Amino acid sequence: MAEPRPLTQTPPASLDWSRPGTPVAADFGDIYFSTDGGLDETRAVFLGGCGLPQAWQGGAVFTIAELGFGSGLNFLAAWQLWNETAQPNQRLHFVSIEKFPFDRAQLRRALTAWPELRALSDKLISDWPGRVKGLHRLSFGNVTLTLVHEDVEIALDQLHSLKADAWFLDGFSPAGNPAMWSEDVMSAIAGRCAPGARLATFSVAGAVRTALKTAGFEVRKMPGFGRKRHRLEAEFPRDISGEALTRPPKVERALIVGAGIAGRSLAFALSARHIPFDIIDDRANPAASGNPAALVKPRFDLQDRPESRFFLSAYLHALRSYPESCIMERGVRQIPKHGKEAERFKKLAKQAPLGDGHLRWRGGDLWIESALVIDPKKVFDEFEIRHERFKFAQDRSDYSHVFLSAGYGIQALAPELAMRFSRGQLSWAEPVWDHAAAYGGYAINLDGATLVGATHDQLDERDPFELRDEDDAKNLSALEAMSGKTVISAPGKSRASVRVTTPDTLPLIVETGENIWALTGLGSRGFTFAPLLAESLISDLCGEVGPLDKSLRAKFSTLR
Ligand code: SAM
Repeated sequence: MAEPRPLTQTPPASLDWSRPGTPVAADFGDIYFSTDGGLDETRAVFLGGCGLPQAWQGGAVFTIAELGFGSGLNFLAAWQLWNETAQPNQRLHFVSIEKFPFDRAQLRRALTAWPELRALSDKLISDWPGRVKGLHRLSFGNVTLTLVHEDVEIALDQLHSLKADAWFLDGFSPAGNPAMWSEDVMSAIAGRCAPGARLATFSVAGAVRTALKTAGFEVRKMPGFGRKRHRLEAEFPRDISGEALTRPPKVERALIVGAGIAGRSLAFALSARHIPFDIIDDRANPAASGNPAALVKPRFDLQDRPESRFFLSAYLHALRSYPESCIMERGVRQIPKHGKEAERFKKLAKQAPLGDGHLRWRGGDLWIESALVIDPKKVFDEFEIRHERFKFAQDRSDYSHVFLSAGYGIQALAPELAMRFSRGQLSWAEPVWDHAAAYGGYAINLDGATLVGATHDQLDERDPFELRDEDDAKNLSALEAMSGKTVISAPGKSRASVRVTTPDTLPLIVETGENIWALTGLGSRGFTFAPLLAESLISDLCGEVGPLDKSLRAKFSTLR
């Protein structure tokens, strides 16, 4: 019997390929595009219908939102036009909602129909998150794609900060797919429009026109493309927007306090937006980011809770974010600690919460094929770091925004957050395995020795950064117990650092003073969580659509 679909995956797109070149949605009896001029149709109906490329000329950021990502043809056509017409300092956000996403093989097959889009579609396919539910953020230079794998109504509700300049309505035809064209949907769209937003669709059905008019759009029937008699253009008024536009104060110049993975991820998100910043680090609080190697691996939770979606999408985002130059090894063995855990791993591998190509049960271990061992020193290392202490009175006035990403230093900078701290020491041993492995602790081979991490102890009255022989012994005996081999200590300097967590182990993004933000509580998952969290905070502050849904953003902004 087939394993049930995990709750973290959307329902599949059921495609019928019996018509040459054109995938047909079996459940809707409708096509995704027509191979007979589908690209030209996209250009005429959606790009032309929204006044592109003229509409994006002159602005810093242009946002297109779409109902129905399907094969991504509309996105690829918009991206191609952007590359041909936009200025290098402009940025395009494309946000698309899709309840039944393609898997990677379906996407590849569908997009072979468009050889002229090949260079772009290859990039899309390579970063494709599969059918994992929730929000996914894909970055292609100045073009950002946010995919929302969710039913249209829920997705619109979650996109709380969306103010689109253009809307592409591309559900299947209203008769067979009424959920995509309802009055509630049109009213939610109106609430997510920038003033003067343009909207385009192929359908001129009376109910669609009425719903758009009721939502406040001015609607025009236009001559259609090819054999279709009409298409629709609509415009949202300039002087009202569906919901008040409350823009956060502009980030003019930022100071990042702490150059661990959180600080460097913030720097990366700021530099993508050409926002000037400085990073300082007083080196007083060694964090795990200073370790010789780090693991990027998923946290699994088979429920469909907002945080489960975050664990998976943050992991997929991290895999896409880290440059090849910092990857030391691919694939990590996760070794079960006991029989019950082995059963859970077997189930995980069968259910494939991340889709194909990530997990394999190999009898004794769970092989996490996509997991990475990275060199922390090489991650986002292009920024100059000043070795200074944060001096509140002096530094505050020089910057519009301050970001506190100081690891253990957060205790002194924002004591009111009452974070939890735990000490972790890592040690060196002679190799026992030929691959990176995790088992509660972890073992990573580096230059002929194995880095063994890490202890997990509450802070006491002693210096948390001192090296302790008993901790080296603990690490080695844990590895001995897991491997069943005699573990011999190897020369190499042990290292101690402090993890920062919240009581429920979820991260925290919180404003601790006017335009002072803390990004903290990443625990031992900094390398998996930081890139997405930093992108979330910076896009919120820039008034852009964020990569976290409304409920998660709320959850991460309060101490629970
Ligand atoms: N824009 C796509 C392209 O460029 O290939 C074509 C989109 S296709 C005509 C319509 C899409 O709407 C399908 O991918 C379908 O899965 C999606 N869809 C249908 N009902 C939906 C719903 N209730 N919520 C979200 N997406 C839905």
